[in-house]
Parts: sequence; structure tokens; C-alpha cells
Amino acid sequence: MNAYWPAPDAWQQALRNAITDPVELLRQLQLPLSLSNGDAQNSFELRVPRALVSRMKPGNPKDPLLLQVLPSAREMIATPGFSNDPLAELSTNPSAGVVHKYRDRVLLITSGGCAINCRYCFRRHFPYQQNQLGPEQWQRALAYIDANRELSEAILSGGDPLVTPDTRLARMITDLAGIDHLKRIRIHTRLPVVIPERVTRSLVEALTATRLQAVVVLHCNHPQEVDDSVRTAITRLREAGITVLNQAVLLRDINDSVVTLQQLSETLFEVGVLPYYLFVLDPVAGAAHFDISDSEAQKLIGELQTRLPGYLVPRLAREIPGRPSKTLLPPDQTDV
Ligand SMILES: *Cc1c(COP(=O)(O)O)cnc(C)c1O
Ligand code: SF4
Repeated sequence: MNAYWPAPDAWQQALRNAITDPVELLRQLQLPLSLSNGDAQNSFELRVPRALVSRMKPGNPKDPLLLQVLPSAREMIATPGFSNDPLAELSTNPSAGVVHKYRDRVLLITSGGCAINCRYCFRRHFPYQQNQLGPEQWQRALAYIDANRELSEAILSGGDPLVTPDTRLARMITDLAGIDHLKRIRIHTRLPVVIPERVTRSLVEALTATRLQAVVVLHCNHPQEVDDSVRTAITRLREAGITVLNQAVLLRDINDSVVTLQQLSETLFEVGVLPYYLFVLDPVAGAAHFDISDSEAQKLIGELQTRLPGYLVPRLAREIPGRPSKTLLPPDQTDV
């Protein structure tokens, strides 16, 4: 049993040891230092756990994992329509740390931090300082959920909620389980992919000891992100009866091909994960070079649908501020 679980603090050490210096990253990958950009690094610093770096291919400046994290000069080109708050989250904050946009589910900003800084992140400009859930804000968030009887699901999000220590997560889950009308707890996290040791025994216990049904939604964009250590982490969740889904972001030069998307779905399913959403990019300043047009995205998903069983085709979606749910983009099969 002991060999089955990672050391309880291994993930925190991996978090602290993440690479934040582009020079170190590029040296390790035997790539020219000119690939990185100082202004982009200053506006949103590089952060990548070593476990993910070990899955990058040395000598490949176009490695799909590298392109997700390396500060690039292309981020400094201002593009009309790409802004700092593309999802208008600042106007849907009923209480600090609470984002309530959809009727039956509420999102709680559990942590401002992440294990990794993804260059396309829609929250790269989000003012987390005003939105931390400290003890007082937490009580107010609980009161808000308690007073909204239509809510059936609480989503721990961030940043990455699994940057939070297990003891605190366990207390939060216990508090939420005390609200009768909640049925489910959902965790949106990239940590089991980028630091697989994060799936500790105490985390799994916190998610199974509760009456709430637990759902973990991973964020994985490319099949190369999944290795044996990720498989092991997901197995720990699945063996405990936890539903594990994945959402990906459609990113130019990273996963914008039918072959890559097909491999992503198949690789995820092999390790016990069902695809959930494939998001088109949120128009966040600094990420325009990752953008794919809606029509290209709809053609990709239309073709993907001809190559995979329905349950392995993610829903192509976008978040449009003011809508009562995510907005689905229909597959286009006119040229297939
Ligand atoms: C995306 C999101 C959700 C979850 O939506 P699902 O379609 O249930 O995955 C909930 N709340 C907010 C604020 C969101 O942005
Ligand atoms: S892990 Fe998620 S929230 Fe964190 S930087 Fe990446 S995309 Fe953003």
C-alpha cells in the first residue's frame, strides 16, 4: 500500500522546484536562448514543473509542450479584440472568490496559484489578490451557496485548486457537504498531469469520504503530456470511484490537427479519462498567436467525429460572457 502512494509532500517539493528561468529551460532542452522573450517573461513569468519538461523533446523548438509555456515575443503584439478580462469575470463576482454564472453550479476560486503558467491562460491578468478565499471570505462564500437553493454543484477552480494543501481542501469539502442542496463537488485542475504526485492518499480520501459525488476535470492538451506517471495518478482517482474528465484548449501549432486530437482522446481514454470540452481560445491579450478561427475548429471537430466513437469526441465550446451556459459550436462536415 505504501509503495502505491506518493510521499505526502513530494508534490510541494516539485511545485517549489519548478523551472522559472527561460535560460535554464532552453539549456536543458538544448535550444537557442534567443527563443525566449524578456518582455513576455516580465509580464507573465515562465513556470513549468520538471516532470512536464521531462516529456518535452530536446532540440525541438516546436515541441507542443514547450510552446504552451515558453514566453514568446509574439505575446507582445497587441491584437484588437484580445483583452485582459475576456470573460467579464470581474462583473460576475457576487462575493470574493465566488464566480456564479450558471444556475445550478458555482465556481470557487480556491487558489490564485498554479503549478504551471500556460501562455494562453484566460486568467493571466485576473486580479487574484482581491479574490482569495481567506477564512472570512470562505464563510461568506458558504453563506452565499447556502442561500441559493438552486445550486447543486460547487466547482473548486483557480488558478489551480490542488495547489491548496490537503488538510484545507478536506475542510472545505466537509463545509460544502454540510449544505444540503449540494450534490456534487468538482475540481478543475491541471496538477495530476503536470505533477502526478499531487494525487496523494489524503486527497483521494478527502474526495471519497464525503457524501458529495466527486468529479475531477483535468486539463490536458496534447497526448505527449500523458506518461506512465500520469496514468498512475489517474488510476488512483479512478480506483476510488472518482469520475475523471478532460478539457483541452484548441491551440494553433500545438493540437490543431485531427491526428493529434484523435490521439489525445484515445490516449486519455486508455488511462481512464473521458474527453469533456475542447475550448476555442478565450481572446486574452498575449495569446492571439494561438487562435484558431471558429470555422477551422468546426471542420476539425467534424472530421474528428468521423474517426472516433461519439463518447471520445469532446464538445467544441466557447464561453461567451452573459450566456447561461457554455456555448457549443456545431461540427462542420461539409468537406469530409
Ligand atoms: C465553465 C464554468 C462552469 C462549468 O460549466 P460546465 O458546462 O458545467 O462545465 C461553471 N461556472 C463558471 C463560472 C464557469 O466558467
Ligand atoms: S493551469 Fe489552468 S489556470 Fe493555471 S495557468 Fe494553466 S490554464 Fe491557467
